[in-house]
Amino acid sequence: MSQALNVLKDVFGYHAFRGRQAEIIEHVAEGGDCLVLMPTGGGKSLCYQIPALMRRQQGHGAGIVVSPLIALMQDQVAALTEAGVRAAVLNSTLSGSEASAVERDLLAGRIDILYVAPERLMTPRFQDLLGRAPVGLFAIDEAHCVSQWGHDFRPEYIQLSVLHERFPDVPRIALTATADALTRQEIVERLALDDARVFLSSFDRPNIRYRIVEKDNARQQLLAFIKAEHMAGDGTHDSGIVYCLSRRKVEETAEWLRGHGINALPYHAGMDAAVRQQHQARFRDEEGLVMVATIAFGMGIDKPDVRFVAHLDLPKSMEGYYQETGRAGRDGLPANAWMAYGLGDVVQQKRMIDESDADEAHKRVSSSKLDALLGLCETAGCRRVRILAYFDEQSQPCGNCDTCLEPPATWDGTREAQMALSCVYRTAQASRIHFGATHLIDVLRGNASEKIRQWGHDKVSTFGIGADRSVSEWHAIFRQLIAHGLLTIDHGGHGALLLGESARAVLKGEQQITLRRQVSKPARGERASGKGTRTDHTAQMDEAALANWEALRRWRSATAREHGVPAYVIFHDATLAELARSAPDSMEALAEVPGIGAAKLERYGEELLETLRQA
Ligand code: ADP
Ligand code: ZN
Repeated sequence: MSQALNVLKDVFGYHAFRGRQAEIIEHVAEGGDCLVLMPTGGGKSLCYQIPALMRRQQGHGAGIVVSPLIALMQDQVAALTEAGVRAAVLNSTLSGSEASAVERDLLAGRIDILYVAPERLMTPRFQDLLGRAPVGLFAIDEAHCVSQWGHDFRPEYIQLSVLHERFPDVPRIALTATADALTRQEIVERLALDDARVFLSSFDRPNIRYRIVEKDNARQQLLAFIKAEHMAGDGTHDSGIVYCLSRRKVEETAEWLRGHGINALPYHAGMDAAVRQQHQARFRDEEGLVMVATIAFGMGIDKPDVRFVAHLDLPKSMEGYYQETGRAGRDGLPANAWMAYGLGDVVQQKRMIDESDADEAHKRVSSSKLDALLGLCETAGCRRVRILAYFDEQSQPCGNCDTCLEPPATWDGTREAQMALSCVYRTAQASRIHFGATHLIDVLRGNASEKIRQWGHDKVSTFGIGADRSVSEWHAIFRQLIAHGLLTIDHGGHGALLLGESARAVLKGEQQITLRRQVSKPARGERASGKGTRTDHTAQMDEAALANWEALRRWRSATAREHGVPAYVIFHDATLAELARSAPDSMEALAEVPGIGAAKLERYGEELLETLRQA
């Protein structure tokens, strides 16, 4: 394994492999095919970059990387070039003469790693080129794009099986962060990877702290969260993503946040393409920008230092939630996944399913996917255990989610459940139609509004029997009854509640119901246990280290601008923080800092030493 470790240290400046990287790299470098399943941020890129470089050293041709994401390719090439690797890209952004230059370089053996868009790879011209230039390996990134059922389907990916037929001796490595067994099987079949080894990693992202709060005033809650955990004393804040369901809400939220001192930009599919692209570029290049977005802002964001992902609306499924939250903390440093969730979200998502033009089978699947996510929201147990179990992975309580940090109290809600269920039954019996939670809560609390009197619901036996509980307590109860399947939301869209199958047993007193106690609202500002992640870099720094940190960040910004690359391509925060703390004073000491490889040492070593001396 020493050759691989040498490349890791020398080129990338890291000292140890993560997870199954070492195994994968060895397997591919020796010519084996494989399928790599690793969560976002797990470190997939090195799994093909290092074998490509190793095989190059052994005399093979360039590594060809197929990737569907233009922005991502350019980022990777920029980062590799910074690390001294001869990397290039062939995609639609290149002019004819630029593309020819890359082709010439490839033929002349001047390229180690070449990124290619799938549609380009299959052209006769490129296939001809492959016949003349030796190839060291094929890497197929985002391999789930071959799945016709996934939402990232790319027709060109289907043809990639041709590679194997034409170049049976060239190893292929397919990579994806999509975990489910069905997609995995489809990748194996369509890419003809039957004999490939499968490397399945844990999908856990231990550095992400999961938290789901009850929606009260979601914007205010979001602002309080950002201020408490992601804002420094001087008003600057971390980079983060805020997901909303609708375009309008994206626009409004971004504007509202800007009005409250947050550097926020909107992003959704309805925006002018040029503006959208500009916002994405700013998010990538600048520090401390919050992107408020619909899920249109997704694949291809590989910014490593996104410190939080917030959801103001409930996603559609656990897969969606996990993919979106997975964009936080790719660099392995602490990050937050925060969501505000309320009864209205459940009703809204159900309505969207009902009103979609999908067939019944599809609606049933969507509904059960949503239910799994509701289960996560309402669980009194560890969130991570629940998430991983959804992806068929067993685990122990994590100690890094809200329910682990502040275990919610539970209470015997059998009586209240009976009240609520019986109220659903009585009101429906009296009026021959079903009602939504707001109306039912009014009945339970004995609020004799005009609507209630109109329907005669001030006469039903459940009128006023729940007056000792507040509206928000009842909201929490109804939500949990829905999550437990005791109540279901009527097809037809108005949020009317029906009795679920198991409601009978509860009404007859045959089943006890344990509910989660509503968490009392945290005081404004700092939370007791939720220490901010923002300060983690600088928390243990003394004054000298802080001065170094500031100076290094200024140097990095200037250098990134000069090279026209994002700041993190120069050095990650973790590398900068280590430099600030240990203040190395020689080239030898610098070389020991994780993230500084040989090329960067040579290029930036003197400047770093000088910056540290001056600070
Ligand atoms: P993925 O493609 O799986 O989402 P990346 O390949 O982008 O993840 O890696 C995520 C981050 O982790 C990158 O910033 C990368 O430099 C870093 N990384 C990967 N492997 C290691 C390692 N062995 N040691 C330190 N950092 C690593
Ligand atoms: Zn936990």
